[in-house]
Amino acid sequence: MISFGTSLIISPHFDDACYSIGGTLIRDKYFDEKIILTIFTKSRYTAYNINLDEDIISQLREQEDIDFCKAIGAVQICLDYPDASSRNDEIFCNKHINECIVPYIEIIDSISRVLYEIIHFLANNRDLKTIFVPLAVGNHIDHIIAYYSFIRLIKENKLSKMIKYVIFYEDLPYASNYDLNGLDFIIRERMDLLRRNVESLIIDISDMIDKKLKLMRLYKTQTTDEILNEIYYHAKRLAMSEGQFMERLWLVA
Ligand SMILES: [Zn+2]
Repeated sequence: MISFGTSLIISPHFDDACYSIGGTLIRDKYFDEKIILTIFTKSRYTAYNINLDEDIISQLREQEDIDFCKAIGAVQICLDYPDASSRNDEIFCNKHINECIVPYIEIIDSISRVLYEIIHFLANNRDLKTIFVPLAVGNHIDHIIAYYSFIRLIKENKLSKMIKYVIFYEDLPYASNYDLNGLDFIIRERMDLLRRNVESLIIDISDMIDKKLKLMRLYKTQTTDEILNEIYYHAKRLAMSEGQFMERLWLVA
């Protein structure tokens, strides 16, 4: 198994790193240092339609993430972009991903520049080795923006000398809403945009699944029983045999 070394995990919202790759992140043997960077931290969204103002919801969500980072020994970095709920935008885009980004070119420019600065700093000062990036499975508009902001750096060839591994992750719970063939199709489509090949890395989280689900509950304003079930279901169907649970990553070749 490869060692990810010092890793930057790009998370569109506070809960995405935990939901999507929480089982991998709690395996300390893979990492030297974990740095979780959340892009959209201003939010009005809760899973329970709690009627509070943006500042209070954003603070609650940030605190949930502080608790998660503390529990897994990660460093937290927060950018301060407003999420789709704060921008009053449609949350899911049902067009082709290339059309979805048209109204967001400026914000993608801005995030891309900030990501580059942070990656550059971490490569020079913290020996950054690996970056984890969402695939934007499910077409949540903020995940699409995060994905595009990052792949621009790869396309412009700005990262090749700075880091060793780029790893894409399947956005959960959204990935659980597709069958595995549908998911393969989306992943191929994303990699065609990037013009790169990927190989899958299956991470066995069988002995970590309970801990992962418990950590997900730290995101109290976000995690419903339905989300827990969806993530459990996806981890189970990726496994070869009964009683096993997996997370799947995509390593850019
Ligand atoms: Zn998200």
